[in-house]
Amino acid sequence: MKVLKIDHLGIAVSSIDERKNFWTETLGLSFAGAETVQEQKVTTAFFPVGESEIELLESTAPDGPIAKYLEKRGEGIQHVAFRVENIEAALEELKAKGIKLIDEKPRIGAGGAKIAFLHPKATNGILVELCQRDN
Ligand code: ZN
Repeated sequence: MKVLKIDHLGIAVSSIDERKNFWTETLGLSFAGAETVQEQKVTTAFFPVGESEIELLESTAPDGPIAKYLEKRGEGIQHVAFRVENIEAALEELKAKGIKLIDEKPRIGAGGAKIAFLHPKATNGILVELCQRDN
């Protein structure tokens, strides 16, 4: 598999509105827009940083994965996303290497990207996302 770069860092927050200022006013990043992914019960907001992005994640429901994460661990870095050339091939390769996957097949995430998560048990506690974008 070919990992091209760190695509984004996913950061769980209680409120995008309340946390946005740090990224824009304090660090001077630009806000590239927010999007709700109903299926994942999450609203995401992107702030480009050079070749990568910061992704803030806010839960849209008390039983969503981000709500559960916040309950357990509080706000902070929730996942790291690597951009790969071919996500299907990457997942096949990882499966063959015995890596436990959350998503055996890619699904569609924010911005229309194909995404899949690896199981944190297979990565020593780090939630790793693979993503493939056409742009
Ligand atoms: Zn992500």
